[in-house]
Amino acid sequence: MFVGHYAVSFALKATQKKASLGLLFIGVQFVDLLFFSFTLFGIERFNLIENYTESTHFQLEFMPYSHSLVAVLIWSALVYFLLRLLVKKEKGLSGKISVAFALAIAVISHWCLDLIVHTPDLPLFIDNTHFYGFGLWNNALLTYILEAILLVGGLYLYMKSTYHSGINETAIARYGMPFFVVLLLIVNFINIFGPLSLEETTQSSAITALALYLVFAIIAFWLDKKRVCS
Ligand SMILES: [Zn+2]
Repeated sequence: MFVGHYAVSFALKATQKKASLGLLFIGVQFVDLLFFSFTLFGIERFNLIENYTESTHFQLEFMPYSHSLVAVLIWSALVYFLLRLLVKKEKGLSGKISVAFALAIAVISHWCLDLIVHTPDLPLFIDNTHFYGFGLWNNALLTYILEAILLVGGLYLYMKSTYHSGINETAIARYGMPFFVVLLLIVNFINIFGPLSLEETTQSSAITALALYLVFAIIAFWLDKKRVCS
């Protein structure tokens, strides 16, 4: 799954206003950021095979350190404790859950949503055993629709819990985030339905993915600053 993960970022932001939307964008893609970084160093592996499934050209060969359930739980615990250290005083925070907990949930959510779309290539354990995946990627249209519904649903929750105030009454504050979501949907359309280009290598794919995740997080951070939490 690609942009559908950001639904969780929007929903968590609606629950905990103090959590940075930019960080939540990083959080939901944290294990993919690890995966593509690891592939650049040969620690994990994927291959490019045109239309390996209807929705992706990626054959995800070896990813136990980033994408096994046990690894994801460990990464999310690390993120939780690191944030507890960094964000020391969480007393008096409004919202039902702490910022650290919101980020930990963001990290775990990636595996749960990946489980729906991946073919059985998600390991349970770090020793790369017991693979799961419900295989929605075998149907490109359904994959696209599911991600779109999730993302628009997340945006709805976010827009309902934030507003553009008098001082923030700009077109960017008002329309920026919905426009950004439309952009994400277009990028995902190309991602799911686009052909595999001849020049593409696993390295260039990994670098493109990492760059997109970072750029999306920066845009989300910037647009979120234009809005006020209610
Ligand atoms: Zn993933």
